Amino acid sequence: MFTAAQARSWVGSTASVIEDQAAALTRLDAAIGDGDHGSNMNRGFKAAVQRLDGLEDEDFAGIFKAVGMALIGKIGGASGPLYGSLFLGMAKELGDGTEVEDERLAAALRAGYDSVVARGKAQLEDKTMLDAWHPALEALDAALAGGKELGPALDEAAAAAEAGMKATIPMVARKGRASYLGERSRDHQDPGATSTHLILKTLADVVNGR
Ligand code: ADP
Ligand code: MG
Repeated sequence: MFTAAQARSWVGSTASVIEDQAAALTRLDAAIGDGDHGSNMNRGFKAAVQRLDGLEDEDFAGIFKAVGMALIGKIGGASGPLYGSLFLGMAKELGDGTEVEDERLAAALRAGYDSVVARGKAQLEDKTMLDAWHPALEALDAALAGGKELGPALDEAAAAAEAGMKATIPMVARKGRASYLGERSRDHQDPGATSTHLILKTLADVVNGR
């Protein structure tokens, strides 16, 4: 079972984690982009938390729509519309309930991912956030299908996101700013795949009560 209260905690904890890691995310983006990924994400998630503080809606759609709109409104870079689409996709899939079965959370993350793909039109191995999302969602589905509880299943998803994030290091970027560097984008970890790992690790931590 996943609840709207957990969804709120996820967003709040993500904002703190991103704030802690903002300098590291920016350093990664400085190497192959324009050095704003940490500040972009920090600004976006701070705005998301502010919106949630003033929000009376307690259901999934209300929460995730507010987060998506905050990210789209506050982040100038590519990652704003992409992460914004993720949360709007989740809002649409989950609708106005406040509790869902584990498989519905997995389906909602998948719907969010599909929205990112539709907006960004990247493919796997283009060295983007998709390279962390995709293996994570596969691991989550497999763990749930194998009878795991949501907490341990999300731990497997976070571990797969981390492996996917590391696997971006040898890739040559074919989408986004890093693609302007061509071969010189190799041997650097993708900033967006790194923030995706943080977001999924935080979800696992919240659901596991850590
Ligand atoms: P910008 O590149 O506009 O400065 P950010 O630095 O905030 O935006 O975000 C960069 C990250 O966005 C990249 O590391 C990559 O993971 C992700 N990204 C860029 N373009 C795409 C895309 N088309 N599809 C998926 N992710 C993308
Ligand atoms: Mg950037």
